[in-house]
Order: sequence, then C-alpha cells, then structure tokens
Amino acid sequence: MSGMGRTLTLALAVALASVPGPGASARSLASLGYTVLRWLDRAEIVRHDLSVEVDPAGLTARFADDVTFVSAGAGDLYVLLGADAVLERVSGPEGQDVAFSRAYGWLSLPFAVYRIASPGIERGREFSLRFEWHVTPGTVRFVNPFVALHFFHLGFDALWYPHMPGEQFFHADVRVTVPAGYRAIADGELVGRETVDGGARERFHFRTPVPVMGMGLAVGRFREAAAIEAAPGAVIEAWAPVGWISSVDRAARDAAAALGFFQEKLGPLPVERFYVAELPFPGGASYPSLYGLAYGGDLSFLEPPDETRWDSDLILAYLVAHETAHKWLGGMVGTPVVGSAWLSEGLADYLAYLALAAMKGEETSASLLYAKAYRPYVEGARGRPRALSAVELFDDDRDVLYQKGTLVFRMLHRRLGDEAFFALIRSFIHHHAGRVVTGQEFIDFADAFVREAGAAGAAGVHEPAGLRAFFDQWIKGTQTLDYALQVLEAGEAHLAFRVVSRGRLVEPGQVPVEVQLENGARLVQWAGLDETVTLELPARPVLARLDPDHWLADADPANNVWQAP
Ligand SMILES: [Zn+2]
Repeated sequence: MSGMGRTLTLALAVALASVPGPGASARSLASLGYTVLRWLDRAEIVRHDLSVEVDPAGLTARFADDVTFVSAGAGDLYVLLGADAVLERVSGPEGQDVAFSRAYGWLSLPFAVYRIASPGIERGREFSLRFEWHVTPGTVRFVNPFVALHFFHLGFDALWYPHMPGEQFFHADVRVTVPAGYRAIADGELVGRETVDGGARERFHFRTPVPVMGMGLAVGRFREAAAIEAAPGAVIEAWAPVGWISSVDRAARDAAAALGFFQEKLGPLPVERFYVAELPFPGGASYPSLYGLAYGGDLSFLEPPDETRWDSDLILAYLVAHETAHKWLGGMVGTPVVGSAWLSEGLADYLAYLALAAMKGEETSASLLYAKAYRPYVEGARGRPRALSAVELFDDDRDVLYQKGTLVFRMLHRRLGDEAFFALIRSFIHHHAGRVVTGQEFIDFADAFVREAGAAGAAGVHEPAGLRAFFDQWIKGTQTLDYALQVLEAGEAHLAFRVVSRGRLVEPGQVPVEVQLENGARLVQWAGLDETVTLELPARPVLARLDPDHWLADADPANNVWQAP
C-alpha cells in the first residue's frame, strides 16, 4: 500500500468515525467520501474530449475521454467516476497502458474512486490520459441511464465522466454516435452531424468553459417541436419523445418566460442555445445543465406534501423556473457537487418562486411557496433538523434545502428589499462567472456588499453590522425564530396587541400585522418587537395575523393568529 493510499484510508476512516450514529445514511457517506477526496487532489482537469457511442435499444453505451490535466505535484492521481460505469482502460498519450485500481467503490457510494499510477509530471505542467469505460443495465447500481425503450439519459448525478473533486471549469468537446433514427441532445453548440456506418455522429463544442455539473446527455427517438425565440437572441429548442404524450411545448414557453425574467434581473447568460428535452423517465426526474434542461415522467414528486390537487402546469412551470435559475447558479457560476448545496439549491429555488410570480401571478407563486417550503419547514422544525450547511444533495434530508434554504433567501430578500437583493445576486454572479464558488464565498461577498452599499447610502440597505451573523444563525446554526401575536385587548372598535419573540432568533425591522374587520375590510399595521400597538377601528376586529405573507421562517406560526372569541 502506498503512502497516499494509507492517507486516503485514514482520511475516510476519520470521516466515517465522525458519522453521527448508526442511522447515518449511505448518502451521507457519499458526501463525506467526496469531501475527503478533495484533500487528495493531485491535478486539475482542464479539458474533456469525449467520444460516446450509445445504442438505446441495444442497451449499450461506450465512452472514451481524452482528459487533459494540469499537474498539482507528484503522487498518484485519484479520479472519481460514477459507480454505474465500468472503467476498462487508462492509457497515456502514446497509447501505453497506465496502471489503475479501484481504490474505493463501496456498495453504498454512488461513485468509485480510482487510483492511477503517478504520471510523474512536474507541478503546473499539462498532461493527458485516455479513459475508456462502458455502462450497461448489468453494471448499473444507482441511476439507470436506459430510462425507457429507445431513451437514454445521463445527468450530473450519474457523475458520468471523470471528475476531480476540487476541479474548476474545463473546456469540452463531445462526439456522440447514435444508431439511425436516434438523436443526441447534449450540451454545447452542435457543430456537426455526419452519417456514419448505420447511424449518425453529432459533434458538440463548448465555446465557454463548463463547470463539472454542466454536461448532460440524452439519446433517443426525439421529435423537434417548434423552437421559441426568447429575448434577447436566445432560442429555446424543444424536443419531445416520439410515442409519448408530451408537455414540452408548454415547458419551452415556460423556459422562455423564466429566461426573460432572470436575464432582466441577473444579467445575460454566456450561452445562446437553450434546449428543453422531455424524456419518459420512470418515476419522474429533472436535470439542469449549462445549455439545457431534461425532464419528464411523473412530476408529482415535486408537488407539495399535502392533500391539495395541484395544477400540473404550475408544477411544470416551477420545475422549469428552478432549473432555469441553475443556468446562472450552477452553470454560469459553478457550485461544488458537495459542500454548498444550501446556496445552489436554496437560492435557485427562491429565485424560481420569484420568476413564477412573474409568470403565473404573485398569489399563485406565494401559495406554492407556502405549501412546498413554509409549511414543511414548520413541520420539520419540530424534529431537530441539522444545520443547513451540513445538508447535501446526496443526503436523505435534502428536502430541507428547498424548505429552510428557500426561506432563508426570502428573509435575505426581506432584509434588503427588491432593489438591493437583486443587485447583490447580480453582482455576485457577475464577479464569479466561470468559477466554482462555495457557500462561504457567497457569505463573504454578501457581507462586504451590504456594508459597502449601506455606507454608500443605497436605498433600503441598512446592514451596518453586515450579514455574517445572519448566515451564522440561519445556515450554520439550528436555532429558530418564533414570533407571536399577543392581543392585549379587543373591543367593538379597537384592538391592542404586541408582537413578541418566543424563539432564539430575531430579525431586524418591523413586521406587518393584518387585521380583518367584521365588515370585511382589512388593514395592515406594522409593529416593532415588544411595541404595544393600539388601533382605533371603524368596525369590530375579528381576525389578526402576524406576517401574513410569510416573509419570516417562523418555526411556530400557530401563535401568529388571533381570532375574536
Ligand atoms: Zn436545483
């Protein structure tokens, strides 16, 4: 066993020992294993030159990837590849075999770690290795890319090309060979399609570097639906699965609307192509990538966990808005696969509700946010959830990212107001485009941004103490906020109340209390914490509700409501 091998064993052992209790899931182990691997990086991947041959009906997929690395010093390389793939061969530039072994590939991990003999390249120098692997239904353990007869798909969760956990953006070319009658829909610009023996080869080129979660691949029998012009200059391609009832026309229109909203709020994207592909995923799925969005199957898994029958068009619009937000957060600005899910998912999800308000109306968006994020957060808050910063996409409790994660960004929006909130997000994206950014970098940036904006007298920004305490409490901490409405006196024409805090956390500023009168009229009164408010009213108050629009992540909203006896 080499020295580095021992280090890896030790590091994983330490990580496993820190797993809290026997209930820790396999997915948590995956997150830990991935995090540990980052310490072992011995190179960075700067280019993929991928050739893929897929035969969906024959149930085979073969891959060859000429990977260019920049050496980060001596020592063996540790490269990660999805556990569903079987790595057959690693070779050097002259075609010589390079020794490799499966260092870690436990049954519970969605990826395997391969140790590759040290190429002995001086630090900072480029070198390349060719990886060849295959996937068949027999090799699949986690994500089956053979999604249905005639349809094949690989998304970011399959970790379907070699990764280095610490890598940044890379350049890429992808060639896909498919049998006659099939189309490949991949990220990048389609730069060529040629007929080859028994099928076609399509070539995709990335004009700008791509982050590790930015490449998806679909192969299937697709029908191209009418493309949609989206402002400005972007064209939405829509691909429907042949032989299936498809919602892709609607999804493409939603994508155009979401794209318009985000371009206005967050600035232009570096890519002009946007494909929307529907596939008959068993059980329902949805994947963002740099150029596209692949979705399909039964999307009811996205419905709020309640008894209401939700409009499937609304759920589809939400899905499209969320994945479109990932073009900015995850695509233009990269986010690591592990370590910052609260940022990539929480912010993308909150932005999706803002786009949805523009697309479907404020009330519709607010009711979905209430049912999908707010109410499940309140229910989950009783069960002592982990800190948001600890939760990963691989984890069993990942729904928290779309509940508390979404609400935290809503509270940030409340603190800053429309103008400063969007200015912050736009500025963050502008300053980090083309880089993989951690949640901590977002916190540092946001903190500096509001201090400078406040000092410059920007409208609505009054955060002289910065935002560090806010993120410490809400992202890294587990304490909660609980405001309550105390009605001191209620009469025929008056109401006296106080807003009090019963939780550990408070948010700055006044909060609204909506008062409903017997004659049907409503009024809103703003109140500071612990301030006694006495209202003289034109009619008898019958109902009062604190924070009626749910701007605060209030762990116990039951005590926010007063009803006349
Ligand atoms: Zn997402």
